[in-house]
Amino acid sequence: MNSNGWKPIRRGPIYCSPGCGAKCLHIHYTAAVAAAEACKARMQDPSQWVIQVHENMGWFWGLRHVLGHISVRGGQVQYQEDPTKGFHAMLNSDADSSGCNADWHDDREFDDPNEAVIHRLKFAKRKINGAVRLMLKFGMRFTQR
Ligand SMILES: [Zn+2]
Repeated sequence: MNSNGWKPIRRGPIYCSPGCGAKCLHIHYTAAVAAAEACKARMQDPSQWVIQVHENMGWFWGLRHVLGHISVRGGQVQYQEDPTKGFHAMLNSDADSSGCNADWHDDREFDDPNEAVIHRLKFAKRKINGAVRLMLKFGMRFTQR
């Protein structure tokens, strides 16, 4: 499927791409955009976050930091009882990915999206510190290749 296959098309209440084909609804798209905008407004520095909505068997939303690497997962709008809670931040070694490397992952969720981001960064720091201690224990130096 080329990228045009994922361009949503409006047909009455439907707003869905040929690539998806699940007859996703336009009201779910607008709800996803609204939830993402509301979450962005709650961030400590909203200018550093961009909203992301995408469709794949329903409309999903989230935020992504302008520098990449970290995103806040909102969720799939039609299954959310309350889109103002239950935030999960995801960290990826690849700046262009909105996904989550398993190395940086746990399943904690927070009602404040900022706390989700802080938790994810602290989680990564603990992992990195542990790896550095291990390397030093085995006599590895960072100047070595
Ligand atoms: Zn769809």
